[in-house]
Amino acid sequence: MSSCLCVMKFGGTSVGDASCIRRAAEIVRAAAERQPIVVVVSAMSGVTNRLIEGARRAEAGEEEHVTSLIQELKKQHEDVLNALVEDSRSRIAIASAHARVLNELERMLHGTALLRELTPRALDAISGIGERLSTPLLAGAITQLGRRSVPISATEVIITDSHHGRAEPLMEETHRRSETRLRPLLNDGVVPVVTGFIGSTLEGVQTTLGRGGSDYSATILGAALGAAETIIWTDVDGVKTADPRLVPEARTLPEISYNEAAELAFFGARVLHPNTLRPVMAANVPVWIRNSFAPEKLGTRIMADGTPTGSGVKALTAIRDVTLVTVGGPGIVGLTDVLARSFAATSATRANVLFVTQSSSQNDICFVIPTADEKRTVAALREAFAPEVEEHTVDHISEDRNIAIVAAVGENMRGTPGVAGRTFNALGREGINIIAIAQGSSEYNISCVVEEPAMQRAVKALHAEFRLHEPTA
Ligand code: ADP
Ligand code: ASP
Ligand code: MG
Repeated sequence: MSSCLCVMKFGGTSVGDASCIRRAAEIVRAAAERQPIVVVVSAMSGVTNRLIEGARRAEAGEEEHVTSLIQELKKQHEDVLNALVEDSRSRIAIASAHARVLNELERMLHGTALLRELTPRALDAISGIGERLSTPLLAGAITQLGRRSVPISATEVIITDSHHGRAEPLMEETHRRSETRLRPLLNDGVVPVVTGFIGSTLEGVQTTLGRGGSDYSATILGAALGAAETIIWTDVDGVKTADPRLVPEARTLPEISYNEAAELAFFGARVLHPNTLRPVMAANVPVWIRNSFAPEKLGTRIMADGTPTGSGVKALTAIRDVTLVTVGGPGIVGLTDVLARSFAATSATRANVLFVTQSSSQNDICFVIPTADEKRTVAALREAFAPEVEEHTVDHISEDRNIAIVAAVGENMRGTPGVAGRTFNALGREGINIIAIAQGSSEYNISCVVEEPAMQRAVKALHAEFRLHEPTA
């Protein structure tokens, strides 16, 4: 175990062009003077979205789009390579690695177009290409600054289950492989640059950890190697009191707890993949969120105990692209197994249930799932309740996509009376209709379902109500 080891992850915007990659490489070089570093890197910003779109268009038979996508990706990465790496031998080696990866992509897209079928396994292979292209660039840039660095595919070290699109790590095997593959490099003073987002099953089939999964890759490797800390370098100063795109006056929090960060991530704060903290919580290893564009700032420290704030509410989050599903009708009052059957259906489709409520009149059970999971889930519910729908015991299984969840998060909300009242008053004053509410028994969050167009107004109103723009004492 190397107790001073640090895992550093650079997100898409932090490697968005040649100058960003140079800046990231400089951060790594400086840190590597002091301690062993493992780097995890995302695809250049926008690349994963384009790959997924390319895969969907190939599925629809748009063969001509394959060529233009490959050309665009080739040019983008070639331009960065030429601007970044001076040594011609390294340049040739990286260019040929890129050519191999792009050739693989081309064959996968043509295969998809030919079959008009995109399996979850094929989508994982295609969407993980961006990390395989960015990794050699960052390793090349670090080497150029005088610190030896090699690109490593996470398929060699992060071993997962076979749940394509949202795979989970098998930690023991990941630990074994990371020790074998990465430790000798670290002992030699070499910086491994590992592809974020992807992993591999025990059988060697590539998987992904879900969108935004490079954060998770970093803490998985941190835990596997017994790192002293993980630093997630991104494009904001740290975890803020709200998404700065929704609330420009949002303030950076110097520290928050694992629980608070996990709640924020669960309810869609994009700054962290929802599972990021899982691997490191038990060992109490700190995770830092820092700005790669302003490395002089300290960022946010995430650890077991965050400093409580006066009002109890520490930060807000909001999530759109979600659907409210209602299973209802007067007849469900007598049905004792409605909840069990509803959640058997969501669990069979592996839908991520974000929010659940049941009114006391028992007329309705509502839950919120990502819109991406909606079709499969509603079909499974209709099948599960087919006899009752037939008999009108269950009147409707309906879906509403025009909604968003807004959540207030803070460990200190427990024991601070009036938070729920202030939340409802503030939304009421703004004329925002609350469709449903839920408060976890942990009292770390209060979440409300509101109409989607009111989402930003709701977050702003709560930000002002809890005076989150003001530094806490
Ligand atoms: P990266 O490419 O580095 O992984 P992401 O775009 O995935 O970056 O995450 C960073 C973004 O998360 C920020 O630019 C910001 O818009 C968004 N975000 C959402 N909620 C928060 C929050 N509470 N604090 C900071 N950033 C947030
Ligand atoms: N590139 C992947 C994505 O866009 C993973 C990540 O950025 O963390 O989802
Ligand atoms: Mg991200």
